[in-house]
Amino acid sequence: MQISDLAPPYIRGIAPYQPGKPISELAREMGLDAANIIKLASNENPLGVSPLAQRAIRRVLEDLARYPDGNGFELKQALAARYGVAQETIVLGNGSNDVLELAARAFLTHADSAIYSQHAFAVYPLVVQAIGATGIEVPARDFGHDLDAMMRAVRSNTRLVFIANPNNPTGTFVRAPRLEAFLSALPRQVLVVLDEAYNEYLTPELRADSVAWLKRFPNLVITRTFSKVYGLAGLRAGYAFGDPGVADLMNRVRQPFNVNGIALAAAAAALGDTDFVRKSYELNQTGMKQITDGLARLRIEYIRSYGNFVSFKVKDAGGVYRGLLERGVIVRPIASYGMPDHLRVTIGIESENARFLESLEQALA
Ligand SMILES: *Cc1c(COP(=O)(O)O)cnc(C)c1O
Repeated sequence: MQISDLAPPYIRGIAPYQPGKPISELAREMGLDAANIIKLASNENPLGVSPLAQRAIRRVLEDLARYPDGNGFELKQALAARYGVAQETIVLGNGSNDVLELAARAFLTHADSAIYSQHAFAVYPLVVQAIGATGIEVPARDFGHDLDAMMRAVRSNTRLVFIANPNNPTGTFVRAPRLEAFLSALPRQVLVVLDEAYNEYLTPELRADSVAWLKRFPNLVITRTFSKVYGLAGLRAGYAFGDPGVADLMNRVRQPFNVNGIALAAAAAALGDTDFVRKSYELNQTGMKQITDGLARLRIEYIRSYGNFVSFKVKDAGGVYRGLLERGVIVRPIASYGMPDHLRVTIGIESENARFLESLEQALA
């Protein structure tokens, strides 16, 4: 017997999260120059860190001997002003992955179940399983959330439903009226965690005021992140809005200083960098067209995406992935999402998108 055998079976059964390959790792493995590698594998912002956030980061460096503000007052104040919510409704996290886990920790026991969709974000099953609760995976419909089936899957012990909108890695999107109908019909003892990590990439006509729903649905928690359009993936900052009672519980189970001082300062500054967010959005719009036009030209099937990435289908996904790596292009295999024939590519800057398409054509040949 090994000491690790003593851990509960549901912990030993956890499948490790598979992140996108870091540039430094590919450089080491293939003896490539890191400067010539492009990473389009983790839905990061190709424009880098917002200039306002960079300035805030430099300012806060001098204060790092002190603990950060455990309540994140300034960031909460900025979020409250921006979205018209009370500070009591906000939970800050070390990335939004952290707040997803806080929701699970606050609401699930091993006797409960949580629902998520097939092909949905990998963190949902992970945080559910870490508690020993039962995860219910509902088959997707056209790669997206089948809300009717998810409703039918609710059991008497179901406490949580995760919905990613848009979803990663499929990029699918559920429009507001359907979501509102789902929230209205769902039993009130079930919490809905609506993960809106890619909300800022939605075109204006698709972007609903989901934050306003919080007033009508005390069982709704909305999560968002600074990792995507705000360009701060490396710092780890995310947040949730929810009913004050729910937010209070999530705040009680989090680590007292879960968000570091640099992340707090940078996130508050990035939130106010509307120029940077607009540029990032526009770059994504044109880049999405560039990549999907290119895929169509190569007669490659792809799933229409509402995020900053797109998943496409190829005959030999593993082989194409390796072919791209050999050419210094990192994309993301998504076999672990039940999509062994697809690869996911993040929208980059124009030259990166062009290089990806060119390398893809070569890798397929
Ligand atoms: C990228 C992503 C997040 C963000 O995670 P962070 O921990 O905030 O970096 C959350 N949800 C989904 C669906 C994502 O794709």
